[in-house]
Amino acid sequence: MAALPEPINALIAALGKLPGIGPRSAERIALHLVQAESGSVKQLAESILTAREQVRFCEVCGALADKSTCDLCADPRRDDSVLCLVERPVDIISLEKSAAFRGKYHVLGGKISPLNGVEPEDLRIAELERRLAREPVKEIIIALGTDVEGDATGFYLAKRLAREGLKITRIAYGLPAGTGLEFADELTLSRALEGRREM
Ligand SMILES: [Zn+2]
Repeated sequence: MAALPEPINALIAALGKLPGIGPRSAERIALHLVQAESGSVKQLAESILTAREQVRFCEVCGALADKSTCDLCADPRRDDSVLCLVERPVDIISLEKSAAFRGKYHVLGGKISPLNGVEPEDLRIAELERRLAREPVKEIIIALGTDVEGDATGFYLAKRLAREGLKITRIAYGLPAGTGLEFADELTLSRALEGRREM
């Protein structure tokens, strides 16, 4: 890399910080970009900026959206008596691909992890409690990862959210241990949902 002009090295370093892009890919992409037609590079840069500026979090569920409320929350055909609680916005995409869930979602924004400084108040639990007060939710399906923190968070929530007329379930195991929903295939996800158990 020593032989490359400094701006290319800077670009390689920036690309290398992206998820899933190792040093070799970063170098290949950078070398491609600096030799590509400048109009197409400009277009790429603009679409990155536009996406970053226009995408925000849904005010209701916390999913990625381009409006204040996401399409899933705004869809009247979705069953609003069942709420699926996930860790991150990307988990919604995995569950939607499995087509096994027709209710609504709530993104927690992480898992309780005192070692990493993540306390309950850092997560979107208060927002969830406000939804429970105004939406006709009868069941919450906890669909967090199957690691120790996911378990601990699930138990904490089952206790904190317990109230009359609300069933709290947890998706079945069978998901790869210690992984998030994004690594589960669609069939595994639908089975995990079907086999959910009351906590
Ligand atoms: Zn939403």
